[in-house]
Amino acid sequence: MDTILILIHVEKDAAPAKSALEELGAAKDIAEACGATLAVGLVGEALQGAANHIAECGASRFLGVEGAEFRQSRYGSDIAAAEAICRATNPTFVIAPATSRWNRVVAGLAHRLGGRADTHVTDLVAGKGGVTISRWYYRQRMEAVLHRTQRPWVIALEAGCHAPWKGGAGTAKIEPVAATVPETAKRTTVTGVKAPSSGQQTIRPDAELLFVAGAGWTKKQSDGQTHAPEAENLIRGFLQFTNASLGSSKSLVDLSKDGQAVLTLMTHLNQIGQTGSTPRHLKGLSTCCHGEEPHAVGWRFITERRAVNLDPNCGWARGKADVLYVADAFDVMRKVNALLAAKQA
Ligand SMILES: Cc1cc2nc3c(=O)[nH]c(=O)nc-3n(C[C@H](O)[C@H](O)[C@H](O)COP(=O)(O)OP(=O)(O)OC[C@H]3O[C@@H](n4cnc5c(N)ncnc54)[C@H](O)[C@@H]3O)c2cc1C
Repeated sequence: MDTILILIHVEKDAAPAKSALEELGAAKDIAEACGATLAVGLVGEALQGAANHIAECGASRFLGVEGAEFRQSRYGSDIAAAEAICRATNPTFVIAPATSRWNRVVAGLAHRLGGRADTHVTDLVAGKGGVTISRWYYRQRMEAVLHRTQRPWVIALEAGCHAPWKGGAGTAKIEPVAATVPETAKRTTVTGVKAPSSGQQTIRPDAELLFVAGAGWTKKQSDGQTHAPEAENLIRGFLQFTNASLGSSKSLVDLSKDGQAVLTLMTHLNQIGQTGSTPRHLKGLSTCCHGEEPHAVGWRFITERRAVNLDPNCGWARGKADVLYVADAFDVMRKVNALLAAKQA
């Protein structure tokens, strides 16, 4: 019988992250479809809280590599922990959420186990021909469905591709697994984390809505003037009201380099598109952005797309958006923010 092992790293003994619950949901579907058993492998400083949170997930075993040296994200200790759990479970499939922490480890893990690894997986299906995965190539333009004969098959599943598992908490019995981490594998130490405070953080992968700003926000408007400070206030206000994630066109983030009026809350990390990111929000609203193909290709996974543009012939009008509002985005966003403010009052 196949065994599906899911790997979860636990941060601060808290509930597993949403990406881990999505992975659990996907693994359960596969296990049910092919009659496999499910095992959960946890790695972290303290595991019981997280394990209890998913106690009712139907896993036949919970295994844990626990201890202070597994708190930090470090290749040497993470791979030792994952390998020890795999050796204790002898899995056919190992599924991990595609976090930066697991993405770094899966290839080495497959090598140590004599299996194969696939990263950036967006779908997992168990059909008549066995388990297949989907992943995208050539900057999200071509989708391939793959299967492999080698086992174990280590799969890093991207966030936002499966509904998260929902179920009851309880008391999980964790089988402790010993993982030896040699001194040579401890040379990396995480001394701290530098990240914008949550108020300043504009990239929010878990947000339902993606708000995209284009270069039009900084262009001369009907009065012959640019209005970058007002644009920034409108965008900032909308983000505060909605907690939406902020995306940008390439032209807008490139402006700072050209010495033009810029929006200070934007960096290249916000860029969506062929040479930017391909986020997976449920809804997207594009404003002052033309919707050219190199940009719109980054919207591949946005389920519902809307755009506001002055130009009825912009790219969004050519089948790239579900709804195009031909309107002045300054007027629209002033009104939207006023309505949101009234709603919150
Ligand atoms: C190899 C390559 C890779 C690329 N990769 C990317 C990428 O990853 N991401 C990306 O974004 N681009 C990418 N580009 C660039 C892309 O082709 C476009 O140049 C870019 O997306 C245009 O940005 P924009 O729509 O914000 O600006 P513009 O083309 O200047 O469009 C501004 C829009 O704002 C509208 N507008 C102005 N004022 C208002 C207003 N008041 N209300 C409403 N609408 C208004 C205008 O009508 C116009 O449509 C790439 C290009 C190449 C060649």
